Amino acid sequence: MRISLDVDDVLADTKSVLIKYITLIRGKCDWDFNQWEFKEGGISREAFLEIYKLVWHVHNNEIKATINSDEIKEIMKNNDVTLVTARDKDDIPPLKRWLKHNFAGIDFKIINTRSIKEKLELDFDVYIDDSPVLLQYKKDHRKLIIVEQPWNKNIQESENVIKVKNLREAIYFLNNLN
Ligand SMILES: [Mg+2]
Repeated sequence: MRISLDVDDVLADTKSVLIKYITLIRGKCDWDFNQWEFKEGGISREAFLEIYKLVWHVHNNEIKATINSDEIKEIMKNNDVTLVTARDKDDIPPLKRWLKHNFAGIDFKIINTRSIKEKLELDFDVYIDDSPVLLQYKKDHRKLIIVEQPWNKNIQESENVIKVKNLREAIYFLNNLN
């Protein structure tokens, strides 16, 4: 199967490091991570993205991988896996450094899309992601495996939409699908 694997908060626990630096820089965590959209009164999208960049460019050694090399190899053995991420072009080199550090010797295919919605225009059988936006636009029967995060807790499961606690559970599910 051709699998689209998301990076932030699926393969990488970016959220924890973001919370740390938002709190450090702004004196409190005013990011409402129970919502996908940014709300008035909290951190703005611009300020959030600035801290996101700081985290990926300067502190990416603090971002933990959610699975180890053996586990990613296990998915790659039976499937064609591509990391599909929607980020700025200049955020790709730090991602590559992070991958090299956490998954030494593994050659990842990476596709950078301009938006999350654009991921659906690519030809994958299964999407492993945390974004509720994918579900909003997905109109076909391709499988969507949603890794649970506070911002997607309202997503309802259906025949082609499966919720899992973490990436490990997604691998377990995929193994049974193959
Ligand atoms: Mg994500």
